[in-house]
Amino acid sequence: MSSEAVRKVDMIIVGAGFAGLYQLHRARGLGLSVQLLEAGDGVGGTWFWNRYPGARCDVESLDYSYSFSEELQQEWNWSERYAPQAEILRYINHVADRFDLRKDIQFNTRVASASFDEATTRWTLVTEAGERFEGQYVIMATGCLSIPQPPKFKGLETFKGQWYHSANWPREGVDFAGKRVGLIGTGSSGVQMTPVIAEQAAHLTVFQRTANFSVPAQNEPLTEATLAHVKAHYAERRALGREAVTGQYLSANDKSALEVNDEERLKEFEFRWRGAGGGFRMLRAFNDLMRDPVANRYAGDFVRGKIRATVKDPAKAEILCPKPDLPFGTKRLCVDTNYYETFNRANVDLVDVKANPITEITPTGLRTTQGEHQLDAIVFATGFDAMTGALLAIDIRGAGGLSLREKWAAGPRTYLGVSMAGFPNLFVIAGPGSPSVLSNVVHSIETHVDWITSFLQRSRAQGTARIEADLAHEDKWVEHVNEVANQTLYPVGNSWYLGANMPGKPRVFMPYVAGVPAYRRIIEGVAEKNYEGFLQA
Ligand code: NAP
Repeated sequence: MSSEAVRKVDMIIVGAGFAGLYQLHRARGLGLSVQLLEAGDGVGGTWFWNRYPGARCDVESLDYSYSFSEELQQEWNWSERYAPQAEILRYINHVADRFDLRKDIQFNTRVASASFDEATTRWTLVTEAGERFEGQYVIMATGCLSIPQPPKFKGLETFKGQWYHSANWPREGVDFAGKRVGLIGTGSSGVQMTPVIAEQAAHLTVFQRTANFSVPAQNEPLTEATLAHVKAHYAERRALGREAVTGQYLSANDKSALEVNDEERLKEFEFRWRGAGGGFRMLRAFNDLMRDPVANRYAGDFVRGKIRATVKDPAKAEILCPKPDLPFGTKRLCVDTNYYETFNRANVDLVDVKANPITEITPTGLRTTQGEHQLDAIVFATGFDAMTGALLAIDIRGAGGLSLREKWAAGPRTYLGVSMAGFPNLFVIAGPGSPSVLSNVVHSIETHVDWITSFLQRSRAQGTARIEADLAHEDKWVEHVNEVANQTLYPVGNSWYLGANMPGKPRVFMPYVAGVPAYRRIIEGVAEKNYEGFLQA
């Protein structure tokens, strides 16, 4: 398309991950013409970019999958409890083919700006290549963890070896055989990579700034019998998920950690660590882990006990033990396979870069305040500009030229996590102010897409040209999101949920913590009251 030509459609979707693809499918069902713009050269979003060794989902595959099509969920066979990245990417490609989605997707297209025209009530999006697209509705399906935080280390440009970021991994893979590898970052990405790189490399040094909590995934192959059973009862599984706080059914214990004796408490933690299936089940061990500091401390102490029992070198174990200023689960809990065990290998070292910060990258390695480490390769698992990064990377201008970057200068403000006052006809999927990253995000995506689609169906039937969140309702929602977050321990941890991982980013707790069922009842209530809080003209 020439840069002067403008492609006009009803809806423009940005991003071809789980959210964008499903929105495309649903919008077609409304009879809308749709153009989906995607920066990568394939579908998959997060699963397209994050190809690092050991990458896999920390939500079980049988839940981290679309529920909208019975045929799809019956025909697809997941191989493991937690699917590896390549399998999720195959799944999402299968979905794109099965629903014939590719014909409305333009790949290799990064959106640079989006501006709303009050006279026509339409948006114009301009890509980095200068192409223009015009649509009545814009759906930002840009993801919560899609803008990697670039490594900002003095001297990186002098490094003679290879370096990689977890979220921008070479498609052909990386062979670390015989190499001395340095890994910076011990969030979910670093924790998943560590055991796999340790097996390949001659030597691995993990540079840890903050010790995070990690629990075993207890991953295992899914047997034919398990698959057959789940498929026979899939509707029930999905219904339980809808009523679970995270949108994924994990049996929750409704007792306080304070009402049981030491023996019962330990038994419950052990059960969740090992027997019940691992992963996020630990967060559901007691009903007050994320609210009561004493209850939380019990969980933290349990995991610290496991670390000390697993890691043979007591000095390494102490470095790996999260400190009391990080309550259990307030940073995204890591879900691993053999993470702590890996530090017993002779070829793995651990460096505490909180005690001895990294001062620079050198041509042959990395220097901390304690000395130099010789490295052939450096892996940055240093995270993302989470939740707001992808939206603010685009110069979004709403009514009267209002800039989203200015509106969000002190932190994100949305109504219900889907819409912003001053930005008519533009919706965000799983945005800040919704359960989003605190939930099984595929479930939250389906919830948002279904809700947005119903709203658009109704507004088109009524001849409404412009839909916009009302500022007063938005203010009230932001207040409510903060209020419920402050009733929990979440804001205590210096996490990316708060923007605390990005120097200079405003400190605002971004996801909505009240849980998936509570949130859904709110948005359903809004819909029943003629989409209360939206100006419709
Ligand atoms: P992350 O959780 O933000 O972790 C980044 C790590 O890099 C932290 O340990 C951080 O230390 C460290 N770091 C950052 N800058 C540093 C510096 N200058 N010097 C030393 N260390 C530095 O990022 P992530 O691991 O990529 O995970 C992000 C999110 O993506 C996860 O929380 C999860 O939601 C999602 N994810 C999910 C999966 C999965 O499904 N299994 C896998 C990967 C990612 P500090 O803690 O001190 O800042």
